[in-house]
Amino acid sequence: MKSMKFFKLRHLTVVCPECETVFATFELARTPPVDKNTPIEADLHRILPDPELRAALLATCPNCLHTWWLSSFSEHYFLPQVVPDTPPLEPSKKFAHAVQTGRKNNVHFLDRAVLALNGYWCSREEGLTGEKFLKLARTEMAAALKDTSWVGNRGRYNYLMAEILRLLGEFAEADQYYQKVDRNSRLPRELTEKMRSFAQGGNKAPVRLPPHIVEEIFVPKSAVSA
Ligand SMILES: [Zn+2]
Repeated sequence: MKSMKFFKLRHLTVVCPECETVFATFELARTPPVDKNTPIEADLHRILPDPELRAALLATCPNCLHTWWLSSFSEHYFLPQVVPDTPPLEPSKKFAHAVQTGRKNNVHFLDRAVLALNGYWCSREEGLTGEKFLKLARTEMAAALKDTSWVGNRGRYNYLMAEILRLLGEFAEADQYYQKVDRNSRLPRELTEKMRSFAQGGNKAPVRLPPHIVEEIFVPKSAVSA
């Protein structure tokens, strides 16, 4: 099989679903597969080598600033070189616009929490602390977890909430959420216990996952034996 070591962006033309403006943006067209040495942090995000890569998961309309996952925009046959460009925003700023769009369209807190978390990760990829986004993620995730009407992997979201709180230095609250992580989260017990002990020790630093944990969570079993 051909090796896929590099990320690749593709220039394309899309249509805004809100105002029908046709504009050019980039999509993340190729992502190397995860292996045990892929840099992934304890909040379960892969570190991307350039903030533009994560920003390319979203598109921002230059006319009405509607910002959402690129996959919700339809592609248009015009060449991207002949249509207006997406506005020149800092990559993480796109995630702030997406949270705004989500609020305007009344999307669920959980979707907004995921966008805010991506904003934090993008900020980090820009070399910043991303604390504003972390606080936003805490607010949206707390509201999402309070809502009992949705079905999903709550164990995993409880874990993410614990990590958000640990990274914010709110260790007592983080501890409560680590305790709610159950077997349904499909996360290694070793991981939850390790991160809980970091919180108890007052450690708010981002933590990179060791290769065996990356493998256990992210690498499909068939890929390990191949
Ligand atoms: Zn628009």
